[in-house]
Amino acid sequence: MPTAPAVVRTPSSLRLALKRLRARRATIALVPTMGALHEGHLALLRQAKRRASRIVVSIFVNPTQFAPHEDFGSYPRTWKADLAKLADAKVDLVWHPDVRTMYPQDFATRILTEGPATAGLEDRFRPHFFGGVTTVVGKLFIQCRPDIALFGQKDYQQLKVVTRMAADLDLGVKIIGIPIVRERDGLAMSSRNIYLSIEQRAVAPTLYRTMKKAAEQLRNGKDLEAVMADAAETIEDAGFSLDYFEARHAETLSPIHSIKDGPVRLLVAAKIGTTRLIDNIGV
Ligand code: AMP
Repeated sequence: MPTAPAVVRTPSSLRLALKRLRARRATIALVPTMGALHEGHLALLRQAKRRASRIVVSIFVNPTQFAPHEDFGSYPRTWKADLAKLADAKVDLVWHPDVRTMYPQDFATRILTEGPATAGLEDRFRPHFFGGVTTVVGKLFIQCRPDIALFGQKDYQQLKVVTRMAADLDLGVKIIGIPIVRERDGLAMSSRNIYLSIEQRAVAPTLYRTMKKAAEQLRNGKDLEAVMADAAETIEDAGFSLDYFEARHAETLSPIHSIKDGPVRLLVAAKIGTTRLIDNIGV
């Protein structure tokens, strides 16, 4: 059996463990997660291994990025299975603080970002979300001082927000984005996919299939507005309620009107039943 990684739960034990890793001149990769690990997370770990000599994984379900009506309480927590996966992946250190450790009683500091965080995508439907993400990720970066940090393109706007924040605050960490890992039928892997009923799970790959087709049509020169309207209709006809389906500049996230304004990224967020799925694809 692979050796379980060291698990630390307090800032002082984290500092000591990191000091030991750094004493051997290790380069440190941080992979922030909320646990309920799947192949998407494991892809981040594999890439981390290729780029750094030591891997630190944080597992923290961050309450400040959930709105009161969202699923913080029911978010899947699979600690034992996660730890076994992290041991298999030969992770060196797991940072697993509890909520009071990250947010002591009188916690009163927030990192708020603009630019990609106000692009009118996730921020329009989850106004609290990026404030929570940047505050916790900023704090993780300060606690762990990694050389690199890996994030999935699955959360495309988040990747851009964190990259901007790290540069703006000179945090000295290089942000690396990793392509989306999908199920065989195209559904982007997500810890939340377990919420889907059998029927919803069967419909869920429509999102990727439709975006893929739209991207192809755009590459073939079809009119952007017509392609987007057609794809949105297909998604809604399949039973989704769309939050947004948009064509944006892949780097700045600003709206585009033709693929000549590109590089272009299509981004979608839609609910099926009570489960909200997000996905995106390059054109
Ligand atoms: P989470 O635990 O959902 O907060 O995700 C932790 C990290 O894993 C984030 O950087 C996500 O973008 C990334 N991630 C989640 N799902 C996938 C996926 N299917 N493919 C690639 N990265 C992913």
